[in-house]
Amino acid sequence: MLHQQIELELAEREAWALRRQRGIPNNRRLFVLACMDERIPVNQALGIRDGDAHVFRNAGGLVTDDAIRSAMLTTQFFGTKEIIVINHTECGMMTASGEFLTAALREKGIDPEQVALDPAVRELTLPPDAFSKWIRMFDDVDETCARQVQLLRECPLIPDDVSIHGYVWEVERMALRRPHFRLSERVNSAKAMGVKG
Ligand SMILES: [Zn+2]
Repeated sequence: MLHQQIELELAEREAWALRRQRGIPNNRRLFVLACMDERIPVNQALGIRDGDAHVFRNAGGLVTDDAIRSAMLTTQFFGTKEIIVINHTECGMMTASGEFLTAALREKGIDPEQVALDPAVRELTLPPDAFSKWIRMFDDVDETCARQVQLLRECPLIPDDVSIHGYVWEVERMALRRPHFRLSERVNSAKAMGVKG
């Protein structure tokens, strides 16, 4: 009967819409922090599907105040047990320094140190000369990735039993690797094979 099919679809939609009310976590109990870069296909990179994770993306995939706010909510209240950080090669965050960006904004007539960080929470302001620190440009993706994991592990707002790992997405290879672990440097070379010169 057609109505049975309709009822099934309605039940599925209801289960999907009301899962937070019912305390149902995302499918993989997973929070992903990734760079906003369009070259990271997060689902493909991790082999996950829509519904599997809470995904937070910002410039760099960095542990900022809002990343912590989101990670805290999902791990403390929405049943998430694992965090994966994804940074990537060729990241735009490595193309300039914070000082350069500060100066570039000033040239556009914007004083970044006079702008509210969070327009809804006006008391959140940067101390003088802190904008370039706040923007957090970086020059080593491996170091940055390892550091984000450390920052999350040390964050008192995230439960100790949450598993936290970070990976570097190589845009040139379309694959993940561990930070400080470039497989290409370890294969097909006399050095890697232990051949003495
Ligand atoms: Zn990036």
